[in-house]
Amino acid sequence: MSDNSPTLFTRIINREIPAEILYEDDQCIVINDIAPQAPVHMLVIPRKPIPRLVDATEQDRAILGHLLLVAGDVARTAGVDEAFRLVVNNGADAGQTVFHLHLHVLASKDGTQHFSEAKL
Ligand code: 5GP
Repeated sequence: MSDNSPTLFTRIINREIPAEILYEDDQCIVINDIAPQAPVHMLVIPRKPIPRLVDATEQDRAILGHLLLVAGDVARTAGVDEAFRLVVNNGADAGQTVFHLHLHVLASKDGTQHFSEAKL
């Protein structure tokens, strides 16, 4: 993890790789997951490339709070604010594949039905 090259998500933020961008502000971006594990599967990604949740520091307190607020906002916009799930995979053994912190927002289309646990 000493690799200084931009992460996949930084390249998406920089528009070097296309993605379905649902929301962005000065601190984060929200995109649709390319391989959705639920009918609604969004990723809330800080612009700052914190590799894993455990790499966040006291300096990141505000951004971490912001990510949670944005997750709620985009769930509301998607119409699933009554029923959604947040997942953060921390570390390869927990299933993390992109080492740039992100929140998975998972829901069924209408925000009411249960959905598969899938790999998450
Ligand atoms: P992780 O496994 O690290 O918790 O989650 C990484 C997520 O990023 C996966 O759900 C995967 O489908 C998604 N992903 C990987 N590459 C891309 C991509 O190029 N575009 C988008 N939109 N999502 C991606």
